[in-house]
Amino acid sequence: MAADRPAIRLTGLTKTFGAVNAVDGVDLDIAEGEFFSMLGPSGSGKTTVLRLIAGFEQPTSGTVSLFGQDVTERAPFDRDVNTVFQDYALFPHMSVLDNVAYGLRVRGMPRRERHALAREALATVRLEGYGDRKPGQLSGGQRQRVALARATVVRPKALLLDEPLGALDLKLREQMQVELKELQRELGITFIFVTHDQEEALTLSDRIAVFNEGRIEQLGSPAEIYDKPVSPFVAAFVGTSNILDDTLSRLVLGRGGIHSVRPEKMSIGREGTAIHTDREAAGVLAEVIYVGSSTRLIVDLDIGTRVTVLEQNDADRVGEDERGSRVQVGWDERDTVALAAGPVASDDLPPLTRPEPATR
Ligand code: ATP
Repeated sequence: MAADRPAIRLTGLTKTFGAVNAVDGVDLDIAEGEFFSMLGPSGSGKTTVLRLIAGFEQPTSGTVSLFGQDVTERAPFDRDVNTVFQDYALFPHMSVLDNVAYGLRVRGMPRRERHALAREALATVRLEGYGDRKPGQLSGGQRQRVALARATVVRPKALLLDEPLGALDLKLREQMQVELKELQRELGITFIFVTHDQEEALTLSDRIAVFNEGRIEQLGSPAEIYDKPVSPFVAAFVGTSNILDDTLSRLVLGRGGIHSVRPEKMSIGREGTAIHTDREAAGVLAEVIYVGSSTRLIVDLDIGTRVTVLEQNDADRVGEDERGSRVQVGWDERDTVALAAGPVASDDLPPLTRPEPATR
């Protein structure tokens, strides 16, 4: 990619609906060939950004450039991007083949030629031989693949995907995640993926933008977002975090500020046993939740907060029958992440990591 010509450039992008600032001054460059995800809670503005890129909405201010050209004023069909919607938006009365070929027909391509390309596109999503069926005769996952074939057959330079796996059950969703990633690699085009599922974003993306109230709260690789969240909001929204506020940080770390520690970076031992970590805090084991390959342990620390510890299951783990007993929790300084101050979105904090009143 030429650094001065990203696939997509958003400059000061703003969209208001009445009193609502749906998108609030977003600046963003997305590279050619990148798998880019926009992640955030419901109402954070990610779908509106996608619709502004597609041209379904006009910005209140700011610009959208595609491949070096300002397209802010252009109609959706005049932009070199295509969108896949969560509900697939297939034409029920048309065959699968005609659905896929539709975009080519609109462009005036002769029937034989467009059907040949549509068959090729169906092959890339492993649906050879399904061309004669109607969408109603397919499973949810197959319909989603038809929608992908239809969007890619016109060879857009970028594909916009609005929660495309949202309607699928978990197993199928995981399978489609792998297929999406393979398809993107095969096509080599930019994918912009909107999701509120953090695991999906972490699995698929080259980079992620975490949205909060119309703004990008953090932009980075999955590892950066997960290991180095910049704010309490990101730490709580992406995965589970134990958050130490200023008072707790002073008590446990001997310094002020807001810090977070991931549950899997914490270890736990019975009171009096050495756990060999830089930081330690004592408390009472409140809950033991068995989750297959690991166990989630909830501990009420004496300093007045509740933390979650995630332990791999092995023979000597602290067990369910030890609920109510005294334990020690430890972690290393290198796993303690300093967060910029900022409001924690309380709705997005998992209840078990929400700090308890200090008097408890
Ligand atoms: P979700 O995951 O629920 O789709 P989102 O992060 O994609 O959420 P948007 O759909 O972009 O969020 O919405 C951002 C804000 O703008 C919300 O407060 C929403 O209610 C508002 N909004 C979006 N579209 C419109 C519209 N056409 N008219 C009025 N308000 C709108």
